[in-house]
Amino acid sequence: MPIFEYKCKKCGHKTEFLEKAGSDKKHICEKCGSNDMQRLLSTFSAGSSSSSNDNYSCPTGTCPFN
Ligand SMILES: [Zn+2]
Repeated sequence: MPIFEYKCKKCGHKTEFLEKAGSDKKHICEKCGSNDMQRLLSTFSAGSSSSSNDNYSCPTGTCPFN
């Protein structure tokens, strides 16, 4: 199951959720309780090292998105 990263628009808190692809489920920020969360990206099988050709990979998986 893919992992989706969400960022709270209110407080900026980031959380990852395991979620079915195509799901439009609303998530609630565990920090401030706001349900206004924005999906940032999807990560398939976190920790996989098979995509060495990916020029937009982040070694730690925690690089900030701007
Ligand atoms: Zn929040």
